[in-house]
Amino acid sequence: MFPRKGAGEKEVLGELEEKTSSDLTFDSGRILGSMCTYPHPFAVEVVRRYIDRNLGDPGLHVGSQRVEEEAVEMLSNLLGLKRGYGHIVSGGTEANILAVRAFRNIAEVERPELILPESAHFSFLKASEMLKVKLVWAKLKKDYSVDVKDVEAKITDNTIGIVGIAGTTGLGVVDDIPALSDLALDYGLPLHVDAAFGGFVIPFAKELGYEIPDFDFRLKGVESITIDPHKMGMVPIPAGGIIFREKKFLEAISVPAPYLAGGKVWQATITGTRPGASALAVWAMIKHLGFEGYKKVVKKAMELSRWFAEELKKIPGVYLIREPVLNIVSFGTGNLEEVEEELKKRGWGISAHRGYIRIVMMPHVRKEHLEAFLVDLGGIMRY
Ligand code: PLP
Repeated sequence: MFPRKGAGEKEVLGELEEKTSSDLTFDSGRILGSMCTYPHPFAVEVVRRYIDRNLGDPGLHVGSQRVEEEAVEMLSNLLGLKRGYGHIVSGGTEANILAVRAFRNIAEVERPELILPESAHFSFLKASEMLKVKLVWAKLKKDYSVDVKDVEAKITDNTIGIVGIAGTTGLGVVDDIPALSDLALDYGLPLHVDAAFGGFVIPFAKELGYEIPDFDFRLKGVESITIDPHKMGMVPIPAGGIIFREKKFLEAISVPAPYLAGGKVWQATITGTRPGASALAVWAMIKHLGFEGYKKVVKKAMELSRWFAEELKKIPGVYLIREPVLNIVSFGTGNLEEVEEELKKRGWGISAHRGYIRIVMMPHVRKEHLEAFLVDLGGIMRY
């Protein structure tokens, strides 16, 4: 019920504490199956300080708009491009929707089709429904990366673009983006790379010596990339990123916004009023951690995932779905639903889908959390 009379802050906060006491928190170490994490304290401070900035009306917040442009530029640089065009958006879902929207608007095909791997994130289902773009699913190979031959076989006159994934949601697999890029160039189609998760992992992991396919704008067929700072970038939610190689993609999805207090502008994002604080936090975190800082975070996460994968193999009845590529380890068991239920009963924030349980080594996940998890899992499997 909407209260007629307000209550004191202390009382309201007390009630909130109680109501959220059933939430799992990242610092408890129990959340092992999420791509989110506790944000970096510096990013939290930046958000708090600039909480009022609205990038939906950039004429009022000209400085913040410039900072967003610089954040986009730094993300573009990370992804191998001197200058890219895009926005800090609400997350990977919005970023993917914007990419599909741009491809569709540019293609001007009557019955548009998008080819994407069976492993693609469900955000594309939303894009398909909203944009009336038919999804054409390409098969996966035994290693769970997309079968590029199947992608080619599915190209028609209605194809508006191809999607490749750099860090699949379930297994962290990186598709053969170089082959997809060649294919896209051969057929004159744009390639979108969904690196919502992998964008803040792969560049650092590659420098650390991990063998991961190239995935970014250094490949000429790649026209757009989703990269989410609110995942491994350690920026508070909401902070996604969409980067286009060329300005024409952004222009193809921009609509005039005539009545803003700051003057007429063109808006490409799905959201109108949107948090400037998020863009500022992305900028601040990149400046604060730099490439070396993120590399340290990724090093720890990658090492932990390799160690954890080996430990899992020692538990009878547990098997890896595949060797980890990024900092995600997914495993199966014979009686998965029961195992999932037992783990949840013991307070673990994990879930089983598509026949496996996914553990994501986010920055809040420490070795002792995983050791405790392994003890519980081992116990359940023995039972
Ligand atoms: N793309 C990939 C590969 C993802 O893993 C996710 C989320 O897990 C998304 C897109 C969607 O991101 P968000 O939940 O930020 O909208």
